Amino acid sequence: MFTKARLKLTVWYLFIIMAVSISFSVVIYVGSTREFTRVLRIEDYRLQHPQSIQQNVQLPVWDQDIPLPVIPNPALIQATKTRVAEGLFLINLMILFFSSFAGYFLAGRTLRPIKEMVDEQNRFITDASHELNTPLTSLKTAIEVNLRDKNFTIEKAKKLMASNLEDVNSLQVLSDELIKLNQYQRLNGNMSISKLLLQKILNQALEKVNAQAKNKKIKILINLPRVNLIGNEKSLTELFVILLDNAVKYSKQGKTVKVSAKKYDSKIQITVEDQGIGIAKEDLPFIFDRFYRAEKSRTKNDYQGYGLGLSIAKRIVTLHNGTISVESETNKGTKFTILLNTA
Ligand code: ADP
Repeated sequence: MFTKARLKLTVWYLFIIMAVSISFSVVIYVGSTREFTRVLRIEDYRLQHPQSIQQNVQLPVWDQDIPLPVIPNPALIQATKTRVAEGLFLINLMILFFSSFAGYFLAGRTLRPIKEMVDEQNRFITDASHELNTPLTSLKTAIEVNLRDKNFTIEKAKKLMASNLEDVNSLQVLSDELIKLNQYQRLNGNMSISKLLLQKILNQALEKVNAQAKNKKIKILINLPRVNLIGNEKSLTELFVILLDNAVKYSKQGKTVKVSAKKYDSKIQITVEDQGIGIAKEDLPFIFDRFYRAEKSRTKNDYQGYGLGLSIAKRIVTLHNGTISVESETNKGTKFTILLNTA
């Protein structure tokens, strides 16, 4: 698809370049041959009127000013015209040759960002359909198996419905995350931005993860300086919900999660640190990739998720012109560090 578009664009570039070049050549041809004829006629005039040179008589400037019959050698004029035409033809041929390469190269460069965007969208659709397919297949299989059961009782139906509901909930989580990721990917810095108190953002995020932390008897300690950020309230709250939710999800009962911050000039460095299962070295470079789940969380059923949270988090940080990084040690804990602009 893109090779065809690239060739078409190259042809359009060539058409424009050649149209300009040929127009210029015509102007040059007409102008130079006319000038040459004029000079020849002046020369002839001077030869026929030698007194005009001696008396320093003003020579005629225009063709029309030269009295007839001053007719320069027609064969000489024709030969010069042919030579000029050949020269211009050669120049145009060279322009055509070089602009074909340049046009093809430029067409490639013009189309590259569009190609990358389309490739990215295709990858997104493939990944999303793959992830959607797994819970849907399990839902379908459970229903089919139970439908074939001749001793299907109300009790069994209730159990089936409860399990179906779990699958549906999980599908809803996936679809919500996909929508969020897509929304943030489409935003190009055009979010509503205001001055926000960091503590307020973290309190809002805490409200959303408190229940889960209480369930696992996990303490969340927050120690922040009073500082204002410049950013979008909803997305920054979402960022800390993702990090706190992961910190709680990937920690064993009774552990502690710490959130702290340090101010540097116009920046604030915020860390979210847990004492959880950690991330293996080989997984670390990929954890911000869409749908990536570290081996440990993929194999264990108690850590549910789709590997979208951290890609959303990274996108939010990027939209705020900030950075996010991670340090981790297996079975010791994980520390996420975020650098954001202060107000
Ligand atoms: P998920 O929904 O799987 O948690 P994320 O994108 O939030 O998706 O995280 C990607 C992967 O990174 C997780 O599957 C997990 O393996 C790892 N991870 C993220 N945060 C932590 C953490 N605090 N401790 C341990 N592993 C983590």
